[in-house]
Amino acid sequence: MQYFGFEAYEKSINSIESSRVFMAKDGDETVLIVAPKESGKAATNLGFKGNDLGEGTFRVPLIHENAEVLRKLFPFTKPVKGLKHPRSFGVGDRLGIATPGHIKVFEAYDIFPIFAQQSIRELNLTNRTYEDVLDAATFAVFREGFKKGFGADGDHLKTIKDVEYALSLGFSMITLDCSEHIKNDVTLDNAPPLSKLYQDAYLNKTFDIGEGIKLTFNEGELRQCAAIYGEAILFAADIYTRFFKQGSYEADFEISIDETASVTTPLQHFFVAKELLNKGVSFATLAPRFCGEFQKGIDYKGNVAQFEQEIKIHAGIARHFGYKLSIHSGSDKFSVFPSIGKETQGVFHVKTAGTNWLEAMRVVAMADPSLYRDIHHYALSVFNEATQYYHVTTDLTKIPDLNALKDEDLPKLFEHNDARQLIHITYGLILSRKNPDGSFTFRDSLYKLWRDHEHIYSDALVKHIGKHIALLGIQKK
Ligand code: ZN
Repeated sequence: MQYFGFEAYEKSINSIESSRVFMAKDGDETVLIVAPKESGKAATNLGFKGNDLGEGTFRVPLIHENAEVLRKLFPFTKPVKGLKHPRSFGVGDRLGIATPGHIKVFEAYDIFPIFAQQSIRELNLTNRTYEDVLDAATFAVFREGFKKGFGADGDHLKTIKDVEYALSLGFSMITLDCSEHIKNDVTLDNAPPLSKLYQDAYLNKTFDIGEGIKLTFNEGELRQCAAIYGEAILFAADIYTRFFKQGSYEADFEISIDETASVTTPLQHFFVAKELLNKGVSFATLAPRFCGEFQKGIDYKGNVAQFEQEIKIHAGIARHFGYKLSIHSGSDKFSVFPSIGKETQGVFHVKTAGTNWLEAMRVVAMADPSLYRDIHHYALSVFNEATQYYHVTTDLTKIPDLNALKDEDLPKLFEHNDARQLIHITYGLILSRKNPDGSFTFRDSLYKLWRDHEHIYSDALVKHIGKHIALLGIQKK
């Protein structure tokens, strides 16, 4: 709509003091505009850094300093703790352009969204900072007038320094990745003897967690639990003491033990949770590594019946202790979503990330087939390099030959698991690829395309993320 002579985003129009603040398109740029509430009166710049356009009107670029001002003036643009909500859902937005589409989904369902969610690995692969990630969510929330609250997850953080970095910026959730302290090479043969403490607390004891579920530790299993997770528990307790115990940060704490080579058995899950709680560590969510494979961007691989059996126990353990089960790499795991919804009794945290990137690339295949072809060929050439960051079992020979595909068939590649994973794991290389003259090979054309086709991307996300949420058993409001 036209507003004060600008092409304004209607839902972004807000008033504060004697000013109106709204977002507008200005050529290729999106900016904030500060204008006087009543004509003839002067507005102040409200602390924003920008240009005075005269007549009390200011043009404010979307930079970090201005995001900070916006969060102060309009608290709904600031992330908040929200994992106490029975249902929460993380949607990573690696590109910083997906949130308007995500907002449409979360307006339709009663589920707490984590719009900003990125791991350090993803930051490095996309050349972004946590400031960028947070600011993109803040600006999108302001633009779309989303006032229900959202979270920001410093995802898979492994060090004190990274946790501190995310918290200092105002991230409202920390996912502590304990994988570097989990000893995967422990077997029954090499696990050291048990301490007296563990013997007394667990050996041959049966724990009744209700709902007919009983867990008993024999000597071998207990020895393995202690040897595999002992150090990880100490690490998590240390982080908790440093950052959460005093309550100096308004942030949820998630324990992640999922990025390891071995599956977390229900007994191990129980052991880790009980030990953490014994040490006074309070956490909102815990992410075990489930049986089967949660590979990036494709459906669950493995025995669905076994998964259903095990998640029932994992969910029972979480309920028993009073935290939520967190399901990572949730992108496209459609065949197990109904049982996740059912066995957790609708109390869960689910994370997706890469699927939002794949939807963005599906838009490229639809809107600019020739650009898509170039990127696809490049992805094939760097696929092996990308496998160092992600575990996948992609068979490149199964991907249809692009030369044999007509332009209108290119989007169908996104229904093909091997093609999905090819594009999924190469995102960092695609986005950072440069020409000899230093310019980006794909990045700038991609962002221009996504901006020109914003509505197609938004509609694709509504459909795709909406499908995830519906399969988890959540009804539209
Ligand atoms: Zn994870």
